[in-house]
Amino acid sequence: MEDCIFCKIVKGEIPSNKIYEDDKVLAFYDISPEAPVHFLVIPKSHIESANSLDENNVSIVSHVFIVINKIVSELGIADSGYRIVNNCGEDGGQTVNHMHFHVLGGRGLKWPPG
Ligand code: 5GP
Ligand code: ZN
Repeated sequence: MEDCIFCKIVKGEIPSNKIYEDDKVLAFYDISPEAPVHFLVIPKSHIESANSLDENNVSIVSHVFIVINKIVSELGIADSGYRIVNNCGEDGGQTVNHMHFHVLGGRGLKWPPG
Protein backbone atom coordinates (compact mmCIF):
# COMPACT_ATOMS: atom_id res chain seq x y z
CA MET A 1 0.00 0.00 0.00
CA GLU A 2 1.41 3.37 -1.12
CA ASP A 3 1.22 5.50 1.99
CA CYS A 4 1.60 2.81 4.62
CA ILE A 5 4.73 3.23 6.76
CA PHE A 6 4.94 -0.47 7.56
CA CYS A 7 4.69 -1.38 3.85
CA LYS A 8 7.56 1.08 3.34
CA ILE A 9 9.55 -0.66 6.08
CA VAL A 10 8.88 -4.01 4.35
CA LYS A 11 10.15 -2.55 1.05
CA GLY A 12 13.20 -1.03 2.76
CA GLU A 13 12.10 2.52 1.90
CA ILE A 14 12.09 3.37 5.62
CA PRO A 15 14.93 1.87 7.68
CA SER A 16 14.19 -0.38 10.64
CA ASN A 17 16.13 -2.31 13.21
CA LYS A 18 15.23 -5.80 11.97
CA ILE A 19 15.23 -8.86 14.20
CA TYR A 20 13.79 -11.50 11.88
CA GLU A 21 12.52 -11.75 8.33
CA ASP A 22 11.12 -14.47 6.10
CA ASP A 23 8.90 -14.48 3.03
CA LYS A 24 5.76 -13.83 5.07
CA VAL A 25 6.64 -11.68 8.08
CA LEU A 26 9.05 -9.06 9.37
CA ALA A 27 10.00 -8.39 13.01
CA PHE A 28 11.70 -5.16 14.02
CA TYR A 29 12.19 -3.05 17.14
CA ASP A 30 9.58 -0.41 17.92
CA ILE A 31 10.93 3.10 17.33
CA SER A 32 9.41 4.25 20.63
CA PRO A 33 9.89 1.37 23.07
CA GLU A 34 7.57 1.02 26.08
CA ALA A 35 9.62 -1.73 27.72
CA PRO A 36 13.26 -2.91 27.72
CA VAL A 37 12.22 -5.32 24.95
CA HIS A 38 9.62 -3.98 22.54
CA PHE A 39 9.39 -5.25 19.00
CA LEU A 40 6.71 -5.54 16.34
CA VAL A 41 5.86 -8.45 14.09
CA ILE A 42 3.98 -7.63 10.91
CA PRO A 43 2.78 -9.57 7.89
CA LYS A 44 4.65 -8.45 4.77
CA SER A 45 1.39 -8.13 2.91
CA HIS A 46 -0.83 -5.21 3.83
CA ILE A 47 -3.59 -6.36 6.17
CA GLU A 48 -5.23 -3.31 7.68
CA SER A 49 -6.21 -4.67 11.09
CA ALA A 50 -7.50 -7.74 12.89
CA ASN A 51 -10.88 -6.77 11.44
CA SER A 52 -9.51 -7.67 8.01
CA LEU A 53 -8.70 -11.26 8.95
CA ASP A 54 -10.68 -14.00 7.25
CA GLU A 55 -10.27 -17.66 6.38
CA ASN A 56 -7.97 -16.79 3.47
CA ASN A 57 -5.38 -14.82 5.43
CA VAL A 58 -5.72 -15.82 9.10
CA SER A 59 -2.95 -18.45 8.87
CA ILE A 60 -0.49 -15.54 9.03
CA VAL A 61 -1.42 -15.11 12.68
CA SER A 62 -0.25 -18.58 13.66
CA HIS A 63 2.95 -17.97 11.76
CA VAL A 64 3.43 -14.69 13.63
CA PHE A 65 3.07 -16.52 16.95
CA ILE A 66 5.64 -19.16 15.93
CA VAL A 67 8.06 -16.38 14.99
CA ILE A 68 7.42 -14.58 18.29
CA ASN A 69 8.16 -17.84 20.08
CA LYS A 70 11.57 -18.08 18.40
CA ILE A 71 12.46 -14.43 18.98
CA VAL A 72 11.55 -14.33 22.68
CA SER A 73 13.76 -17.38 23.25
CA GLU A 74 16.64 -15.73 21.43
CA LEU A 75 16.16 -12.48 23.36
CA GLY A 76 16.01 -14.34 26.67
CA ILE A 77 12.52 -13.30 27.78
CA ALA A 78 10.66 -16.55 27.12
CA ASP A 79 10.85 -17.64 30.77
CA SER A 80 10.52 -14.25 32.45
CA GLY A 81 7.41 -13.56 30.39
CA TYR A 82 6.16 -10.99 27.94
CA ARG A 83 2.98 -9.55 26.49
CA ILE A 84 1.69 -9.82 22.93
CA VAL A 85 -0.62 -6.94 21.98
CA ASN A 86 -2.68 -6.25 18.92
CA ASN A 87 -4.34 -2.84 18.91
CA CYS A 88 -7.33 -2.75 16.58
CA GLY A 89 -9.07 0.41 15.46
CA GLU A 90 -9.49 3.75 17.15
CA ASP A 91 -10.64 2.61 20.58
CA GLY A 92 -7.99 -0.10 20.53
CA GLY A 93 -5.31 2.56 20.06
CA GLN A 94 -4.19 1.46 16.60
CA THR A 95 -2.13 4.26 15.05
CA VAL A 96 -0.60 2.40 12.11
CA ASN A 97 -3.20 0.78 9.90
CA HIS A 98 -1.12 -2.23 8.95
CA MET A 99 -1.84 -5.07 11.37
CA HIS A 100 0.98 -5.65 13.81
CA PHE A 101 1.67 -7.50 17.02
CA HIS A 102 3.61 -5.74 19.76
CA VAL A 103 5.81 -7.92 21.96
CA LEU A 104 6.79 -6.28 25.24
CA GLY A 105 9.00 -7.73 27.95
CA GLY A 106 12.05 -7.29 30.12
CA ARG A 107 10.05 -5.74 32.99
CA GLY A 108 6.87 -6.47 34.92
CA LEU A 109 3.91 -5.10 32.99
CA LYS A 110 0.81 -3.70 34.63
CA TRP A 111 -2.71 -4.93 34.01
CA PRO A 112 -5.28 -3.74 33.06
CA PRO A 113 -4.00 -1.38 30.36
CA GLY A 114 -5.23 2.23 30.47
P1 5GP B 1 -0.12 0.99 17.32
O1 5GP B 1 -0.30 2.23 18.15
O2 5GP B 1 -0.67 1.17 15.93
O3 5GP B 1 -0.58 -0.28 17.97
O4 5GP B 1 1.44 0.79 17.21
C1 5GP B 1 2.24 1.39 16.24
C2 5GP B 1 3.65 1.29 16.74
O5 5GP B 1 4.52 1.53 15.66
C3 5GP B 1 4.00 2.30 17.83
O6 5GP B 1 4.42 1.63 19.00
C4 5GP B 1 5.11 3.15 17.20
O7 5GP B 1 6.11 3.51 18.12
C5 5GP B 1 5.62 2.23 16.11
N1 5GP B 1 6.16 2.94 14.94
C6 5GP B 1 5.54 3.95 14.27
N2 5GP B 1 6.32 4.34 13.24
C7 5GP B 1 7.42 3.57 13.27
C8 5GP B 1 8.58 3.50 12.45
O8 5GP B 1 8.76 4.24 11.48
N3 5GP B 1 9.53 2.58 12.78
C9 5GP B 1 9.36 1.73 13.86
N4 5GP B 1 10.34 0.87 14.10
N5 5GP B 1 8.27 1.76 14.64
C10 5GP B 1 7.32 2.67 14.36
ZN1 ZN C 1 0.92 -1.65 4.90
